[in-house]
Amino acid sequence: MIKKEIFGMNLEELQGAFGEFGIKKYRAMQVFRWLYEKGAVSFEEMTNLSKADRELLSEHFNLGSGSVKAIRELASGDGLTNKVLLEFPDKACVETVVMHHDYGYSVCLSSQVGCNMNCAFCASGISGFERNLTAGEILAQVYYFQRLLQVKGERVSRVVVMGSGEPMLNLDNVLHALDILHSDYGLCIGYRNMTISTCGIIPGIAKLTAAGRTINLAVSLHAASDSLRTKLMPINKTYNYLKVIAEADAYEKNNGRQVMYEYILLAGINDSKADAQALADTLQRKNCVVNLIPANPVPEKGFARPSQQAIDDFFQTLKTRKINVTLRKEMGKDINAACGQLRARALKEEKSC
Ligand code: SF4
Repeated sequence: MIKKEIFGMNLEELQGAFGEFGIKKYRAMQVFRWLYEKGAVSFEEMTNLSKADRELLSEHFNLGSGSVKAIRELASGDGLTNKVLLEFPDKACVETVVMHHDYGYSVCLSSQVGCNMNCAFCASGISGFERNLTAGEILAQVYYFQRLLQVKGERVSRVVVMGSGEPMLNLDNVLHALDILHSDYGLCIGYRNMTISTCGIIPGIAKLTAAGRTINLAVSLHAASDSLRTKLMPINKTYNYLKVIAEADAYEKNNGRQVMYEYILLAGINDSKADAQALADTLQRKNCVVNLIPANPVPEKGFARPSQQAIDDFFQTLKTRKINVTLRKEMGKDINAACGQLRARALKEEKSC
């Protein structure tokens, strides 16, 4: 008999499956709390269930979150950022990062194994796209860190879906996972403390708008001209950046959340004063914020970080044009913070063994 994976099921799914296997439906809430409030990794831990029910559970279900393992771990010198390469039972692996901010702990999640968007500056797609992550695998990344934090009486209070993969191409699983995290009987994380970042998949933004959550939307823009954006992000050929911005405007109007535009600053590519003016022209009078991200060099891709002067000038140009702008607080620079770099290195080393 093939066992079902229990981690990633919401309350209704648990109730449905328990009915099927002769486990009292009211047990579903107890199990839900064990999985998502307490972060249990085995059925034996669920001590308010009878032994017979625990046996039924292990007969019919796998609890895969317990079999996720960190195969590489890096900690930044300042102790505020930890990055892990997590491996799932099928050997697929993804990067997940936890950052300790003033307001608490934020986890940056991957939504796919690899990526096929081919953004020129990103290491995530170097080995191509493997597969979507399930809701349980997305949650397993959060709970990997949550279990470590709860021992210290701390918790994950924010999640950003900004790691490897394009979340809008796996939106059902991403939303399923975020809804469980949002639940009062999960980690109770407000939607306003969640962010989904997209390279600009218009149907995905529209679907997120229709889903009606107050999740923050971040759009990776990185250029304000068709030719440059297409060079940096080939998806611009399918979904032109002006149409993406129009869709993001609709999101802001319907869901009441200011949109964040991410702009990675690449030396000599998109960091000139003219680039800043073009960006300001594109975004003027929009309820948005631009987050400038000085590039982490990706040696495999040949990009460099601009000088501090170029970064400051870009920032000031936007400010002068009355664009809300922030400079990303750099965390984990010493541990290859750009998404996909840890996995890319691990795969390269594996190949050369
Ligand atoms: S930036 Fe995002 S969408 Fe683009 S290749 Fe990297 S992971 Fe994929």
